[in-house]
Amino acid sequence: MHSGRCACGYHAADSDELSDHLREMFTPEDDKDASGQVHAEASRDHPSSRSAPATAYQCLCGFTAGDIAGIDDHLLSAFTPAGSVGHDGDRHVPAPGDEPVSHGPSLA
Ligand SMILES: [Zn+2]
Ligand SMILES: [Zn+2]
Repeated sequence: MHSGRCACGYHAADSDELSDHLREMFTPEDDKDASGQVHAEASRDHPSSRSAPATAYQCLCGFTAGDIAGIDDHLLSAFTPAGSVGHDGDRHVPAPGDEPVSHGPSLA
């Protein structure tokens, strides 16, 4: 019901998939940001290290988020380069127009 489109032309089924796409395009192979700090979800990549509470998601840099979306946001903002240009040289930003933002009531 909620699709996403990227400026490169990529069509995602939903906003989660679009986030995955953006992270794929921006995350460096070594998971390091411009300053050399490694960012990765700690609990997933290092299951043997002291396990974080199930309710918290932790980044290797020390950032903690209450949910997976918080970690995704953190990783994305850590790795998004100036101009949002990905590994492939294309610009990757969520394209407007496809999302039903504040368009009519969305009652749960
Ligand atoms: Zn981090
Ligand atoms: Zn893209």
